[in-house]
Amino acid sequence: MNWKIWTWWMPFWLLAFTSWAAEKYRIEIDLQHPKDGMVEVVVYPPKVEEEFATFIIPITAYGGSGESKLEHWISDFRVLDKAGRPIPHQYISNNGIAIKYAPHIHEIRYWVKDASRLANVYQSHVANIRPGRSYILNHHGFYGFLMQYAQYPYELVVHKPNGFYGASALGLEVLNDTTDYAYTDTYFELIEKPILYAKPDTTSFKIGHTAIHISVYSESGKVTALQMDYTLRPLLKALDQLMPFIPVERYDFVMYFTKRNRYPIANGQYGGLMCSSSSFYILPELYDARKFKKLVQRIAAHEFLHLLSPYWLHSERTQHIGFSSLQMSEHLWLYEGVTEYLSLLTMVRYGFLSESEFYEEISQKIEASTDYPKMSLTHTSEHIFQRRNQENYQNIYYRGMLVAMLLDLHLITEGQQHPDRPIKSLLDLLEHFLAKYKPNRPFKDADFFEEIYSLTSPATRSFIEKYVIGRQDLPYNKYFKKVGIDYFDRLETQYGSFGKFLIAPDYKHNTFVFYNVQRNSLGVQKGDQLLEINRKQVKMKDFNERRLLLLQPALNWPVNALVLRDGKEVLLEGIPDPVDYIDLFVLKVQKKARKEAVELRGKWLGRFDDGTIDD
Ligand SMILES: [Zn+2]
Repeated sequence: MNWKIWTWWMPFWLLAFTSWAAEKYRIEIDLQHPKDGMVEVVVYPPKVEEEFATFIIPITAYGGSGESKLEHWISDFRVLDKAGRPIPHQYISNNGIAIKYAPHIHEIRYWVKDASRLANVYQSHVANIRPGRSYILNHHGFYGFLMQYAQYPYELVVHKPNGFYGASALGLEVLNDTTDYAYTDTYFELIEKPILYAKPDTTSFKIGHTAIHISVYSESGKVTALQMDYTLRPLLKALDQLMPFIPVERYDFVMYFTKRNRYPIANGQYGGLMCSSSSFYILPELYDARKFKKLVQRIAAHEFLHLLSPYWLHSERTQHIGFSSLQMSEHLWLYEGVTEYLSLLTMVRYGFLSESEFYEEISQKIEASTDYPKMSLTHTSEHIFQRRNQENYQNIYYRGMLVAMLLDLHLITEGQQHPDRPIKSLLDLLEHFLAKYKPNRPFKDADFFEEIYSLTSPATRSFIEKYVIGRQDLPYNKYFKKVGIDYFDRLETQYGSFGKFLIAPDYKHNTFVFYNVQRNSLGVQKGDQLLEINRKQVKMKDFNERRLLLLQPALNWPVNALVLRDGKEVLLEGIPDPVDYIDLFVLKVQKKARKEAVELRGKWLGRFDDGTIDD
């Protein structure tokens, strides 16, 4: 399965904007009186000197929602003077509204629409309004600033329904049962930290010196904060070991779980969003508990690892990106590709993914990357705000992750050949940079590769020039061979099959029934109830796993199944028939790999020869 997971990070602004004036924005949002699925926002802006002003709600400033227009997202837009008289205005761009007689502006009022059911928008970027139940305030989908007046402090007043809790890293002050208040020095500081309003379900614990807070809202009510505690705590312990340190004192997970079949979610528009010391999730509930746990862990690991990059390690251009200067750093391959790779590497190293699941993830990434044209990661990254490149944005996660993996294998191999070199893996390289750079000490975009070359070798220069800057096909075989893995773009193979039938649980009668039964060599008949596979009783909790013995049997392995047919027990036995099949993008561990290759694979996956995990 290939999910289109968005794991966008919010550019963060560490510039200390000095606010010299007592002027500020005051924003009031009313969640108590939604109307037609919309909520009302009132903005009281600072005093404007110029005759014209432009009010910006920067919904289009992020990848993925570049096509949307502000006028589709808000309604009944009005600008009023102190006496309540309307002031003329006009939509002038995808996210801007020009206002005349600007010195007279007293307030700007409008209603924001729910956009969470729209397909093809990143759910983390839009207003999510479910009247009376939950509200996700992605601030930049709700309110903005006047051009040239972005550097003022913001006061946010939220009128919330009684009993609602605002989960956010924003540090909300609860003024009374129905009013929350937040203050930030700038707009940029505000939008880093979305708020989820709902009835509270929270938990917290400590990992090292970092306090972890988890807030959960589940549309069906099935997912709980306690469940997320069980899911995330062991993962965070592993990440804590992988990183030399967690650079924040407090980290918030704000998690929203949708019902399974909501349209944009079913369409793959879900994921996580990193916002400095917190991350925000919109994820579907899955029936399969194991898959669900893995999905949450995978995305949470990715978002949490953004603490390394771009939170800690990033370029000047990332630091200074603004709404008007749409020039991105050329190092998205680092922020997204390396992060995605490290999250998968952590999961396999600490047992959250099995080795074969890890290879399956790699195979899916390779397959996904073939959907995109040949592209330079650095060029696409630098020009990501151009439409052509936005279309290729997702490939930064695929090709970017694959490049990070191959670079790691390249450095591990070189490290083995030259034990005197200080950099023997991608993690070594990152550790070096994490010690050198800091959130307020970014690296220079143009110098970063030169630094890598000076720490490594001319071969690394050639690697980066070909595969990170260049557009060449990635040399999977060359590097997988070094760790005892054969790689095939296309592999003719055989799998075992008993023929055509399906099995499903019948919850009412606590049994498992065969259906859609067609020709099969096992002798299954329609309506048979499954009791045992290979002499072991089948239970609800292991059904999903064990039914594969019948549906995807191993070649040449005899299987038997005890079924109940017309009140009598019948034992079915058989050996699966071989079926020809073409498998794509296959990684196959060599059965008789060289000793050095096995050792190198152990280094890569953090395993000793005896299979124990190196921590
Ligand atoms: Zn990401």
